[in-house]
Amino acid sequence: MPESILIVEDEPALQDTLFYNLKKEGYTVESVGDGRAALESARRLRPDLIVLDIMLPEMDGFEVARILRKEMTSAILMLTARDDEIDRVVGLEVGADDYLTKPFSMRELMARVKAQLRRARMLREEQAAESTHATRSTQHAILTFNDLALNTTRREVTLNNVVVPLKPKEYELLLFFAEHKSQMLSREFILERVWGWDFIGDSRTVDVHVRWLRQKIEKDSANPTRIVTVRGGGYRFEG
Ligand code: CA
Repeated sequence: MPESILIVEDEPALQDTLFYNLKKEGYTVESVGDGRAALESARRLRPDLIVLDIMLPEMDGFEVARILRKEMTSAILMLTARDDEIDRVVGLEVGADDYLTKPFSMRELMARVKAQLRRARMLREEQAAESTHATRSTQHAILTFNDLALNTTRREVTLNNVVVPLKPKEYELLLFFAEHKSQMLSREFILERVWGWDFIGDSRTVDVHVRWLRQKIEKDSANPTRIVTVRGGGYRFEG
């Protein structure tokens, strides 16, 4: 079955170009021109990837991403037009996997689309492999660090037996830390391993996610004891 892509772009000429080019690659493609229609189409189509413009009528791309992130695992490639939008995409949890700044070439877009779909495919395969592995050895499915527990089968984290609501990337980051306990991990290494080498963000992305994680799992996020900062280096998970 071909992979499916939803295009959300209100500029008719660009929407047509995107539609035509992605269709030509053999993907199942749908396109809409505003935020509300994006929600409807995404819920019906459950696309593998959403190409999402930010400035949109009805509801902007940030809001669309925020809502859809909670409902589905589709990769999101955001199209930004301004510097202040880029700051929000990179620095805040809008749930985008990657972004592209307008104007961009179709060749660039295709490369990003393929990279995202490849990552999504790998993630699915990894999860399938992990769940097979987990049923074989359930005793390894839960990683515990005192009152903190990661259930890797259910992708669920608890603190004192209370579920900690984590966003997918926060969970992946915590899992990565947990699997590398007591090791100094540089921001670049974390970025590469948790976000992927083709993620076009910078190490601020790591800092922001660490800050959110600390707020959720540290007793005092201003004086963290679990995820500690290594001066001039990166982070170390102490458990
Ligand atoms: Ca627009």
